[in-house]
Amino acid sequence: MARIRSRFRRAATLAVPALCLLVSAEAGAAPDELLDPDAAHEDHHHMPPAYAEPGWSMPPVSFAEPEYPLAAQFVEADSSNFTAGGITEVQYVVVHTMQGSYEGSINWFLNPSSDVSAHFCMRAEDGEITQMVNLDDRAWHVGNSNSYAIGIEHEGFVDDASWYTWAAYSHSAQLARWLCDRFGLPLDRDHIVGHVELPAQTHTDPGPNWDWDLYMALVRDVVGEGVVEGVVVDPDRACAVTATADTVLTTTLEDPAALGDGSKCVVPAGTELAVLHAGADMIGKRRVVLADDSPCAELGDAFATITHFDGFCSLDELAVTGASVALDGGAPIVVGADGAFAWTGVGAGAHTIDGSALGFRSVSVPLDHGGYPGARLVVRLPSTAAGDSTGGDAGLDTGDGDSDPPADPTTAGDGDDGGETGGSAPNDPEDDEWPLPATFGETEESAGCGCREGLGSSAMGLPLGALLLLATRRRRATALRRPR
Ligand SMILES: [Zn+2]
Repeated sequence: MARIRSRFRRAATLAVPALCLLVSAEAGAAPDELLDPDAAHEDHHHMPPAYAEPGWSMPPVSFAEPEYPLAAQFVEADSSNFTAGGITEVQYVVVHTMQGSYEGSINWFLNPSSDVSAHFCMRAEDGEITQMVNLDDRAWHVGNSNSYAIGIEHEGFVDDASWYTWAAYSHSAQLARWLCDRFGLPLDRDHIVGHVELPAQTHTDPGPNWDWDLYMALVRDVVGEGVVEGVVVDPDRACAVTATADTVLTTTLEDPAALGDGSKCVVPAGTELAVLHAGADMIGKRRVVLADDSPCAELGDAFATITHFDGFCSLDELAVTGASVALDGGAPIVVGADGAFAWTGVGAGAHTIDGSALGFRSVSVPLDHGGYPGARLVVRLPSTAAGDSTGGDAGLDTGDGDSDPPADPTTAGDGDDGGETGGSAPNDPEDDEWPLPATFGETEESAGCGCREGLGSSAMGLPLGALLLLATRRRRATALRRPR
């Protein structure tokens, strides 16, 4: 992205002196460091300023597959810059800032004289990830904690917040979540830490410009690998939610000012939205799934500032109690009182979810997901008793399952299904929306239902498939995979 590139040139010029932030680790070496020959290694020690400047090209990739399914490639760090098999027990996922460029840092880790490395490097522009050290191997990035830590290096500079892009946050959060799931780490700040927070470190990254609240909200929001979860709702019970202030719905958690017109919707005070689902609090916002005829429905799912709206319903009031769902023709499961359901171990590829309930028209919904992250759905089950003139054709509605999802189905789940098991290209920055929160499906605490009249299925243009929010995220994978 040109904007980033030009920013980079400016930042690089400004930030070369920032490398002086790094002081000699050896100067303050603790006894343990003296006993362990690589214990003192932190990231980017003595990185020559030239490596922080633009113009480096990506080195040839290795034939080895990256372990992280969403990594673009594996480029192994020089073998003198990490300890093979040196991970003792993973206790931390560590957030770093490169103090340099993506390509420059990758080349630095390839330089035998650098004595530093990290498991992953991430590009700011689009969140592309290159794995450089396998997870069993001890990368040299956090000194005494190297044996216990997996490191993610983020392109950019501590003193320039513009490097901490939405793409970086969102794709790094996916990686951090995958690592936490893999190593059984709690999703908290005791285990997902900044370099500066580990003991006996000499670095300051990622610094005060890194938004930990946003990052942790995104980490917790990701749907786990192979997980398909969702909720079955009755579209006739859409919740009338009123804007109490002039506000803006957005398709990401970014500042509306940073988003284009297609990614936000202006909502004047007093506007009534028809909400089919609202997720839990994510840094002061809730992800809402809007009925087809609601204002701003063109955004698909969108984030609403909690304090700007009144009238959110309890999920129980929207749920189709007693509904059952089946995956790929398998045994049906009955949803909970809040309409929630989930499957685990769902492989990448095309799937079908059938939903049914007494008094409702059955629906069949296609789902194509990449395995990691998982997928999250809102299934709309239209009532046959709501004056729907087409209700007589109750049965599977197989063709239209995605006819009324968000305008761009790929926007529904950046955190949903971006990858395939065998690895995929980085996510498209244009797709940067996020799925419903991890607490999706839990009962909300809000007051009574604002269920409104007049949202009968006929008014909603049903039939149409019923499923709504297809948390599909197309991987652009193959096109960007390296040649074999
Ligand atoms: Zn660091």
